[in-house]
Amino acid sequence: MTSSPQAQPSQNPALSSSSAEALHRALFTLDSHIDIPWPDQGDAFEETDARRVDLPKMQKGGMSAGCFVAYIGQAKVDAEGHAQAQAQCLAMLDVINNMQGTHNGVTARVCSTVAEINAAHEAGVLAVIPAVENGYAMGDDLALLAQFRAKGARYVTLTHNGHNALADAAVHRPSLGDKPENHGGLSALGREAVQEMNRLGLLVDVSHASKKTMMQAVAASAVPVVASHSCVRTLCDHPRNLDDEQLDALKESGGVIQITAMPAFLKPRDGDAPRSAGVSDFVDHIDYVVRRIGAEHVGISSDFDGGGALADWQNATQGVNVTAELLRRGYDAGEIAAFWGGNFMRLLARAEAVAEQRGTIG
Ligand SMILES: [Zn+2]
Repeated sequence: MTSSPQAQPSQNPALSSSSAEALHRALFTLDSHIDIPWPDQGDAFEETDARRVDLPKMQKGGMSAGCFVAYIGQAKVDAEGHAQAQAQCLAMLDVINNMQGTHNGVTARVCSTVAEINAAHEAGVLAVIPAVENGYAMGDDLALLAQFRAKGARYVTLTHNGHNALADAAVHRPSLGDKPENHGGLSALGREAVQEMNRLGLLVDVSHASKKTMMQAVAASAVPVVASHSCVRTLCDHPRNLDDEQLDALKESGGVIQITAMPAFLKPRDGDAPRSAGVSDFVDHIDYVVRRIGAEHVGISSDFDGGGALADWQNATQGVNVTAELLRRGYDAGEIAAFWGGNFMRLLARAEAVAEQRGTIG
């Protein structure tokens, strides 16, 4: 493992795009955060301009697997809001569970364990991995977590923008009655939710969480946490990005940050110019994490169809541009494989091992 790939940059102009293409297609490539359109348009198997990720685009782009999230926007923390969020989340997970079978020459399989994901990859079919974005989706009822897991979910993002019953978010929402902090990190219910997630084999996702929430989740969780779609605060001072202390805590605990393709998290705004970022900015964040805490703690996410998009990574057909840039920076195939899913899969396997110890099937 190269510990400082930038120390001797290997800018090799002769590196052909076909070698990047060949490597990209040979790798297991997992995007850890993709939204689905809602209401559902029934178009996952169609190549449509309405989506940055549909299953034909994944196949064309040499992608192996994607975590498709049931994203629930934050609304009022009350019984009515919770009931709506719970119902919508379960309905969205049902839609994600329908993303399987063979249509239009594409075969996909919904996978909820490492073994299933590996089997799908070996069979040459796309792996669809369900997940939930925003703990608001369980309201204040821990029993929902088992329902999410029963529908295949593999992680729950503790918060979105705005505090919920589980935890404080990095960005608070005064319009929803948020104070800068409502809980000082995780609430008592949030701590119970972390334990329940550990028991069920759900990863604790700290993207969107406040720093206190994130640090407390690292300490509370028996399984290393993931930031399913976050970037580096030292490079771009957004409250939702992870600072050095948070990265060090990830290293210490064995967690992973999945850098995401959201220009606002990648690059400070340059005056009034419209914000744009490219794969090179994206890989700068990967480089930073590798230098600070090591290549085994970083991965790749797009946040496509949830706001993510780069000038040269616009949709699921263009992931090869990330692989090409990683090659140009001097990373070897083993490191690139770790970024493109190996590290994330290690966490899924850990979550399954802990769930098995606690008496539930992973
Ligand atoms: Zn998000």
